[in-house]
Formats: sequence, C-alpha cells, structure tokens
Amino acid sequence: MSEIRYSKDLLWVKPYVDAVAEMVPLNRLTSITGYKVPIDKVEQCSALISKCAGWYRITIRNYRPDYESLGDGKFVKNGHKREYVAVILENLSHELAHLKIWEHTPDHLLLQARLLTRMARQAKKQGLKDTFNRTVYRKISKEEEEQF
Ligand SMILES: [Zn+2]
Repeated sequence: MSEIRYSKDLLWVKPYVDAVAEMVPLNRLTSITGYKVPIDKVEQCSALISKCAGWYRITIRNYRPDYESLGDGKFVKNGHKREYVAVILENLSHELAHLKIWEHTPDHLLLQARLLTRMARQAKKQGLKDTFNRTVYRKISKEEEEQF
C-alpha cells in the first residue's frame, strides 16, 4: 500500500480509497486534497488529477456555494456548504479511474462505475445512512491527525 497524503478535510475518504486499492494502481498517487473555490470566483471543475514526472495528485472540491433566493428567480451566493458525500465519492471514483485509464473513454467510465459501486458497498459497511449528508465524516484518530 502506498503512502497517500490526505488533507485533513478529506481524510474520511481513506477507507474508500483503501476499498478499491486492488482495482487501480495507487503506488504513484501522492496526495488527495480538498479545496474550496473562493465565493467570488467561478468554479471551473469539481475535481482534478494532475500528473507530474510520473506522479499523480488528486484535488477535490469539497465545498459548494450556498445560494439564497431573492425571488423572481434571482439568487445570491451565501457562503459555502460542504459538498455532499455522494458527490465527493463520484468525483473521487472518476479521478481514481484515471490512474488506470487516462483518456475519457467508455472503459474509463466503466471503471469509474465499478469503483463507485465498491465505494457504495464500503459506505453501507460503515453504516452511512444518507449519502447527501454533509456532516457525517469519519472521526479521525490522534495518530492520523499527526500526519498533517
Ligand atoms: Zn476526467
């Protein structure tokens, strides 16, 4: 098993990555980190995998802008909310599938689907009831916290 560095806010995805460890090569993946798009900026993507000198890094947007209705179909941004667990796992499975298949082919999508299926089983195993939950994140231990 490779040593993947997780940002504190995404450490809860570690069991999901471990659950798919034999399905994709994780040995060249160095980090999985979360990011938040500033409220006055336009979001370009929800997740990204970057490759540099044969090493990969994954970043996942884990906050979404919250909108407040002004009526007449008009909205204003009202801070951030945590992204849904389900959306983060969808993005994670997409980016992890790139470790094996770099192009956006039907085979990549098929692998993404298989990874997400395995992650959904992991969610059930962990007793996750609501995948649109924003707050049920795995409690991290002291030892894990010391990684950061
Ligand atoms: Zn992609």
